[in-house]
Amino acid sequence: MIEINNVSKWYGQFQVLTDCSARVAKGDVMVICGPSGSGKSTLIKTVNGLEPVQQGEIRVDGVKVNDKATDLSALRARIGMVFQNFELFPHLSVRDNLTLGQIKVLGRSREEAVARGLHYLERVGLLGQQDKFPSQLSGGQQQRVAIARALAMDPIAMLFDEPTSALDPEMINEVLDVMVGLAQDGMTMMVVTHEMGFARRVANRVLFMDQGRIVEDSSKEAFFAAPRSERAREFLARIV
Ligand code: ADP
Ligand code: MG
Repeated sequence: MIEINNVSKWYGQFQVLTDCSARVAKGDVMVICGPSGSGKSTLIKTVNGLEPVQQGEIRVDGVKVNDKATDLSALRARIGMVFQNFELFPHLSVRDNLTLGQIKVLGRSREEAVARGLHYLERVGLLGQQDKFPSQLSGGQQQRVAIARALAMDPIAMLFDEPTSALDPEMINEVLDVMVGLAQDGMTMMVVTHEMGFARRVANRVLFMDQGRIVEDSSKEAFFAAPRSERAREFLARIV
């Protein structure tokens, strides 16, 4: 479903990604971890073309992302992305947050968009909150609305970039539980997170990055049993 082949990227003179390769099959849950600044956000953003790359190739469902001929907005409409800071539209109600993309990008009728939006709002446990504005919700609730909004677009895969790291501790689990449910339902996911409990529950693969390189790409079992690299061992020892 997602193929990253020998990708390198520079910000000016600074090489942020060096020869990164990874594959995510349909239904896989790949967890990406590693120290701050190692290139995790940059890597995940290359998958939907939010960050261009200078070398290598990225394919999503067979479509080459880093190709001038590719319609990136059509591609992005098929890949859900959830960020650290929720990124709901603050001036729109929850209902309108849920429907805007469906109407504008997918051309759905308002009626259909509302029905689907409410379906996913129920799925994240927030049915009844549709008339509120983001500022009237807790961080955990906002993040769950952001997930519902992404799901309402019928994505073929979901990308998460540290979805719980801006949340108060007591709200982390309500978001992780939604993500675990998605994983168990077979959603293809790439998840940048330091929540190793989540990784242990649902990841197929764990990828560890350091200084722009993928230094480890292991099955969950192998990663937690014995990380190959010294950096990953140190990292795990600190956060688990
Ligand atoms: P991570 O998500 O693992 O913390 P990032 O992908 O955000 O890492 O960043 C990797 C490195 O690239 C960091 O050193 C960061 O400072 C740098 N970086 C990120 N975005 C930019 C940018 N737009 N311009 C220049 N440098 C950047
Ligand atoms: Mg990051």
